[in-house]
Amino acid sequence: MADGASNSNRDTIRRLSSSVFNYWFGYVSNITLVTWLASRAFTGGASKLSAAQWASTIVGGLLLWTLLEYFLHKWLYHDIESPIRDGHFIHHDEPMALLGVPWYLTVVVIVAVYYGLSYIANPAITGAVMAFTWLGYIGYCAMHHALHHARWNNRWFMNLRRHHLLHHAKDNVNWGITTDLWDRVFRTKA
Ligand SMILES: [Zn+2]
Ligand SMILES: [Zn+2]
Repeated sequence: MADGASNSNRDTIRRLSSSVFNYWFGYVSNITLVTWLASRAFTGGASKLSAAQWASTIVGGLLLWTLLEYFLHKWLYHDIESPIRDGHFIHHDEPMALLGVPWYLTVVVIVAVYYGLSYIANPAITGAVMAFTWLGYIGYCAMHHALHHARWNNRWFMNLRRHHLLHHAKDNVNWGITTDLWDRVFRTKA
């Protein structure tokens, strides 16, 4: 799995992604990002969106996350050569290690994506959709941690765990983490 990364690259990536502080502080910075994104839909404490708009941004944002999770895992973590992919391959080699994308990198990317999208779309709706999409990302981080570290005796969890461990065992299958929905849709479920 690690063929793409030279040893010195690997050491740098490991140093940047494997501090225990970074792993857990990522939750703090991501929850802060979600709050900041959602606050884009408020002005002086009043919501700029109707209840129906909130309902659709919640459903749309979370569903969008599950689709992003599928393609980010497939393309960014496996297909396209980059330090991000090398970092993910370290996870494949050492599934129990606490590795996380450097938190400040995530903040820069998400804030840049928000301002970029706000040029072409309504800033309040963009903030609300992105808030729930990023809430989905936090759910993915927590679920992925649990899939490797928890042993919950629950049918739904055990099925998801089997789904993900098969991804670790085989190549090119089971890209979804929080759901196998898109693996069923795109016929990549093992
Ligand atoms: Zn993977
Ligand atoms: Zn994993």
